[in-house]
Amino acid sequence: MTTSIFPTFNPVLLDIANAQEKFPVHNIYCIGRNYKAHAEELGFSVDKASMKPFYFCKSTSFLNTSGAIIDYPAQTNNFHHEIELVIAIGKTGKNIAISDAESFIYGYAVGLDMTRRDLQAELRDKGLPWDNAKNFQNAAIVSSIYPKTQTGIIDKGEIKLSVNNEIRQKSDLSQMIWNIPEIIADLSTYHQLEAGDLIFTGTPEGVSAVNKGDYLLGEIENLGKIELTIKN
Ligand code: MN
Repeated sequence: MTTSIFPTFNPVLLDIANAQEKFPVHNIYCIGRNYKAHAEELGFSVDKASMKPFYFCKSTSFLNTSGAIIDYPAQTNNFHHEIELVIAIGKTGKNIAISDAESFIYGYAVGLDMTRRDLQAELRDKGLPWDNAKNFQNAAIVSSIYPKTQTGIIDKGEIKLSVNNEIRQKSDLSQMIWNIPEIIADLSTYHQLEAGDLIFTGTPEGVSAVNKGDYLLGEIENLGKIELTIKN
């Protein structure tokens, strides 16, 4: 029998709304700049006709769940929130057709793509990888998983986030540049998607800094909520 030198790591298990079973998380993918007004607030324009979406990843060990109380992270003075709709993949597939994409969706979640914005700007300007800006302890916060309903593909609905009860981000999922089937189809040309994968679909405008002691509450219409507290 093979033994390991320290205990093996268990998958992160997310709650599923109104169910006893859990959703084991596999890979975490994120799309960048998927809302025009957010790309513009960071100083970029997006032309869907001539550009392709781009992606980065977060480590599952850096995932935390809604309701978490986290430390303010190291190496930043500009720690930002990005509220996003998250797709939860339910079966294996690659080179998925846009018309087939819905069948690969198990459900959805509300997510926070937490970002060390100062590091992101510095790394980006130097042409260096984004990892230290996007992939660190508690950088991915995810709500319960909501199984997809008959509507299947979500293509609209208000998405908003408040900090200490003051609205910072407010938009609509219909403002996504690449919609859910397009994201699944495109991402699956780079990676074989697996049951348990999560895909963050991008954030609308209004990203801003949070500080020690702040309470974040996000909500997506007809879906659910997410909460996060930054420790004092
Ligand atoms: Mn994001």
